[in-house]
Amino acid sequence: MDAGNGKLVLQSKNVCVVGGGMAGLAAARELRREGHAVTVMEQSGDVGGQWLYDPRTDGADPLGAVVPVRVPSSIYACLRLISPREAMGFSDFQFLPREGDDHDPRRFPGHREVHSYLREFCDAFGLMDAVRFNTRVLRVAAAAAPVTSTAGQWAVRSVRHPGGGTDDDAAHEVVEEVFDAVVVATGHYSQPMLPSGIEGMEEWSRRQLHGHSYRTPEPFRGETVVVVGCGDSGKDIALDLCRVAREVHLAANAFSMEEATTPAMSRVLANHGEVLRLHPRICRLHAEGRVEFADGSSVVADSLIYCTGYRYSFPFLDTGGAVTVEDEVVGPLFEHVFPPSLAPSLSFVGVPRKILVPWFFETQAKWVAQVLSGRRALPPEEEMLRAVEEHYRAREAAGVPRKLTHNIGGVEPLKMYEFGEKYCDFAPLEEWKKELIVSSILSMKDDAETFRDHTDDSEKVQKGLRAWRGLAARPQDG
Ligand SMILES: Cc1cc2nc3c(=O)[nH]c(=O)nc-3n(C[C@H](O)[C@H](O)[C@H](O)COP(=O)(O)OP(=O)(O)OC[C@H]3O[C@@H](n4cnc5c(N)ncnc54)[C@H](O)[C@@H]3O)c2cc1C
Repeated sequence: MDAGNGKLVLQSKNVCVVGGGMAGLAAARELRREGHAVTVMEQSGDVGGQWLYDPRTDGADPLGAVVPVRVPSSIYACLRLISPREAMGFSDFQFLPREGDDHDPRRFPGHREVHSYLREFCDAFGLMDAVRFNTRVLRVAAAAAPVTSTAGQWAVRSVRHPGGGTDDDAAHEVVEEVFDAVVVATGHYSQPMLPSGIEGMEEWSRRQLHGHSYRTPEPFRGETVVVVGCGDSGKDIALDLCRVAREVHLAANAFSMEEATTPAMSRVLANHGEVLRLHPRICRLHAEGRVEFADGSSVVADSLIYCTGYRYSFPFLDTGGAVTVEDEVVGPLFEHVFPPSLAPSLSFVGVPRKILVPWFFETQAKWVAQVLSGRRALPPEEEMLRAVEEHYRAREAAGVPRKLTHNIGGVEPLKMYEFGEKYCDFAPLEEWKKELIVSSILSMKDDAETFRDHTDDSEKVQKGLRAWRGLAARPQDG
């Protein structure tokens, strides 16, 4: 590492990044910047991950019970961002509004704008040639057992679907290659999570699907639809359906109507009361189509759409039990990135939930790249394990459910901002952006339907915005 003259000699590794979404692209950029050779394997025919809208669905498996799902993106046609674009850019390639028919300059643009921004990011930094498209990773395992920390190499088995099809892997040629390190960046918004505790799901004979397979309201025209879950997707999809459905019933994850009727929800109901109804959680589905809610009310529905979230799933990863997924905890992972016994040759970018992206992905990716090059060192394995245990204990003591182990922003928002300074000298996020994020979240809580089209920026935010917009006049890809 030391060339003998006190200068640090950085090591260059041959790294495989699994996934070409925002996290994988952030990883590819930072790994290259640090001098590593990078191969990104992406099962789709383009970059962008979730933001690559796909009109196809996992049609034969509408509940997403098969692992892995065949269509990675869960984005529906009407989707607009819930986070302001001003805070959603890479640090040296901001998500500036562009004019022109192909662009959507709004603060909370539609999904296509995010996808075209990610493509432009790749073009600006020459990342496209690092990506192998239509290439699904089937297995990542130690190249020689047992894999040991630091020196371990990884065998990556993949299959290429030349036409980008979602057909059987067995029909195509499988290849296996060895890499010095693997960065897992496969996201966690593809594999549906279904609710437990609803009796009769298997007997219910009418249409049931997960929000992962919802694209447009048209197939539900004239129907009575029950949407399960009042999160961001549940609300979006229920409102989208209101345009064509006969009735839309939204089932909250609450035991009573008092609990379900938040101020924001009351506002939505007031605007769509003729079509939209709110209910507490579903307790039972009856074979003939009746849906029974916790307060004893019921409705006969044509379709049920579960907007009940997504779960972590790494079906290709074989670590011999060193990394597991249990109760929505991927672990053990030191700071949600490095499995202590396999670090740094195996790492994860993008595990945390409720974080600012791609900014936080960039932070994680810089850290991984710098540890692999030797610019930075990790603590000893035992110390990393102790830190993971301490994180679990602290969360438990604070009464945070275990399934929120990787939820950073919703539980300890400031931690997200400390990470870059602590591990990779990444410049802190500007204060005006932090303020804009908080005010956007508050206005979304206040009015989930129209918050995207109002701005009420403070002086500080307006000043930051003026400087930010000025960047549009200067090239960013320096
Ligand atoms: C409906 C919806 C709305 C959202 N809205 C917002 C929002 O408003 N603001 C926000 O910040 N975030 C939002 N998100 C979260 C969004 O997912 C993140 O912004 C971001 O896209 C996550 O990036 P990622 O790279 O971690 O994962 P992904 O975007 O999921 O990318 C993972 C990539 O890995 C690939 N992959 C997976 N397995 C394999 C394999 N075995 N082999 C090869 N490739 C593989 C996939 O094809 C995919 O391209 C939303 C998500 C959803 C589903």
